[in-house]
Amino acid sequence: MYLPVIGLEVHAQLLTKSKMFCSCSTDHENAPPNTLVCPICMGMPGVLPVPNKKAIELLIKTALALNCEISPFSKFDRKNYFYPDLPKGYQISQYDLPLARGGYVEFEVDSEIKRVRLKRIHLEEDTGKLLHVGEGDRLAEAEYSLVDLNRCGIPLMEIVTEPDIHSPKEARLFLQELRKILRYLEVSSGDMEKGSLRCDANVSVMTEKGILGIRTEIKNVNSFYSLEKALEYEIERQINLLKEGKEVIQETRHWDEKKQITVTLRGKEEAEDYRYFPEPDIPPIIISKEILEEIKKTIPPLPLQRKLLLQNTLFLSPIESEIITSEKELCEFFDECLKLYNNPKNLSNWITVELMSYLNDQKLNFRDLNIEPKRFVKIIEMVDKNEITRPVGKEILRKYLDTKEDPEKIVEKEGLKTVSDLDFLKEIVKRVIDGNERAVLDYLKGKKNVINFLVGQVMKETKGRASLDLVKNLLEEELNKR
Ligand code: ADP
Ligand code: MG
Ligand code: ZN
Repeated sequence: MYLPVIGLEVHAQLLTKSKMFCSCSTDHENAPPNTLVCPICMGMPGVLPVPNKKAIELLIKTALALNCEISPFSKFDRKNYFYPDLPKGYQISQYDLPLARGGYVEFEVDSEIKRVRLKRIHLEEDTGKLLHVGEGDRLAEAEYSLVDLNRCGIPLMEIVTEPDIHSPKEARLFLQELRKILRYLEVSSGDMEKGSLRCDANVSVMTEKGILGIRTEIKNVNSFYSLEKALEYEIERQINLLKEGKEVIQETRHWDEKKQITVTLRGKEEAEDYRYFPEPDIPPIIISKEILEEIKKTIPPLPLQRKLLLQNTLFLSPIESEIITSEKELCEFFDECLKLYNNPKNLSNWITVELMSYLNDQKLNFRDLNIEPKRFVKIIEMVDKNEITRPVGKEILRKYLDTKEDPEKIVEKEGLKTVSDLDFLKEIVKRVIDGNERAVLDYLKGKKNVINFLVGQVMKETKGRASLDLVKNLLEEELNKR
């Protein structure tokens, strides 16, 4: 029996305006290289770092939401190593006294709740960015490398899990849930493509119950998909080694995105390699109970909690609940609409089907929309009251989202009210029957499905404004006379 054992080290950029220890802006994506820098984050000698209060608060907010224990007393340490993206020659991080310990993340795996415990959450500063030019994506393979220090010193929170994860899929689901939580908490954008959320994966294979195998650490996993793929590859590699009677070597491996394999990057570094020592320029951090209480108040319900609530109290399906709680803004929108419109099932249907298909077509995120609950609900109500048909309702929703015009005015202006004038409809029905001899013959010969084609023709003539059932009835009535 080979049981995969996985522990993740997740780095999340914290949403602060300025860097961790200086007042430089964190808006590094929108600035030319090496323009958001100062003597502090460039590592000039003699400068003094000042911790960013907001970053500490955001970490505490996260830690409280994840049920961690917050250390009343903690400190910063220097982690020393040489790399071209680290001008100081050390990273300010936290070693033996992290801001938070313990805690856990709960998430769903195949409809079951799974819990992964956390070891710690600590605060540190980011490094610069290297752009490797030439073959391959590693320093060693590059022709030359360009250095951009804009990212140097941006606050990072490192969340380290216990080795509680047992499959690549579980690892992906864990990370997806964690991302969602960080976004609900508004502590990080969680954007993996832009590197605001990064993950190193530690993995080993257990052959004897309770005894951890030798692990490797995989770097450079830049998406949820890569995380799953890299772990699948690495687990298989390790199992094959063990089957051949060989040993797994403890090392750091690089995920080669192009070749979809992991390759040796370097031997594992131990804590002593980093010559950690307390950062002498920053006093210890002391967190009072009052501060904790203040921060606690700002924590919203988390996505899984919200999802289960929708399922269990409003009886929405798991898929609907998942979609609605995928973003905090969308979930809040649902709540607002529900206050105005007390039919959760129908509301959810309009959101998960019609609104989502608009977002997909337009390649937009919900937060880009600026949609008013009142207006959205108005459209649904018009459909419910049969003032407009469902297809028209759908069309009006799109027009409203495109133009932000009042839906009622759109209906008025474009004459989209449901046609219920029987004589008018009968006339169209007759016209359609006369104009489609072939279809009528087929119908009369017993091909009853043809009725749908005829309904479609009538709907076309009425621009979707007639009620489907009514049209169908009228058609049947008329056809049966023939
Ligand atoms: P280090 O200090 O050497 O980096 P940690 O104890 O902090 O090691 O663990 C780093 C990460 O590796 C954690 O997420 C932990 O869960 C994971 N881990 C530790 N041992 C194993 C193992 N044998 N197999 C898989 N993951 C492991
Ligand atoms: Mg580590
Ligand atoms: Zn700076």
